[in-house]
Amino acid sequence: MTHPISDRYAVIGNPIEQSKSPLIHTAFAQVMGQVIHYTKLLAPLDGFAAAVDAFRASGGRGMNVTAPFKLDAFAYATDLAPSAQMAGAVNAMKFEGDKVYAENFDGVGLVRDVVHNLQCPLKGRRVLILGAGGATRGALLPLLAEHPAELVIVNRTVAKAQELAALAQQHQSGQVPVVGLGYEAVQGVFDVVLNASSSSLSAELPPLPASVFRPGCLAYDLTYGKGLTPFLKLAQQAGVTHLADGVGMLAEQAAEAFAWWRGVRPDTAAVIQKLTVPLV
Ligand code: NDP
Repeated sequence: MTHPISDRYAVIGNPIEQSKSPLIHTAFAQVMGQVIHYTKLLAPLDGFAAAVDAFRASGGRGMNVTAPFKLDAFAYATDLAPSAQMAGAVNAMKFEGDKVYAENFDGVGLVRDVVHNLQCPLKGRRVLILGAGGATRGALLPLLAEHPAELVIVNRTVAKAQELAALAQQHQSGQVPVVGLGYEAVQGVFDVVLNASSSSLSAELPPLPASVFRPGCLAYDLTYGKGLTPFLKLAQQAGVTHLADGVGMLAEQAAEAFAWWRGVRPDTAAVIQKLTVPLV
């Protein structure tokens, strides 16, 4: 089957074999009656720009960007959306002539999954986020836009948590209190606890006191497809029944990119159902 060159998209990364993006976007396109051709693109670690140049020259219209190239994409873009500027990283690009428009939909995808899919409003709630890497950084403004009562960032390397807290305060003029702490300094109970550290990729448990989980709270691990991670298990043992992983975030950020590229926003429920790994 041949595909019109104007409708080519790809996800670029290294490694890339694990990516679910082609499955997700192909499913979206089918449901929305759109003709797109979406592939995986493995680029050499030092060959991001050359690979994107070649893809654009062959008529590619947009790309998702995954590890380790989100910073390369930030440098490659000609027009950075505020979401990408705030995140300091890019996860979606759109090509129009010489222009490379760049976005970061991870944070908005996370918030949409929590608030809309999981029906957990953030307004007026105490939110704790673990980790101070790219995922947390990208989530700051979308989380704060929901007006939580407080946002606490906790990280192994305390200086990074403090740095992100200061960045968040600066961008929203201190309307929502944001603090950055080490794990030993976390106090009180939280309504929403988000694990945006990469601990679950190596089946490790962040040194989090089980007392942080308020009865009825949501415990959400951004890592997906790993079942009951040590973080989710800690929450479950503390009595939390509302547990979720990041599969919905993955689907929602993809839906945002699809809408940006194609002008129509697909529903994510079927894709989430297809990709969900039971939390056991
Ligand atoms: P980064 O590498 O940028 O940051 C990793 C963070 O995790 C750092 O703050 C690091 O702490 C912390 N960390 C690593 N190991 C541990 C551990 N054992 N205990 C406590 N903290 C730890 O990663 P990202 O921010 O890009 O990604 C974080 C997670 O989010 C990943 O698992 C990723 O798969 C997931 N993710 C999911 C998405 C989705 O769509 N569902 C989208 C994007 C990310 P320190 O600073 O001290 O080193």
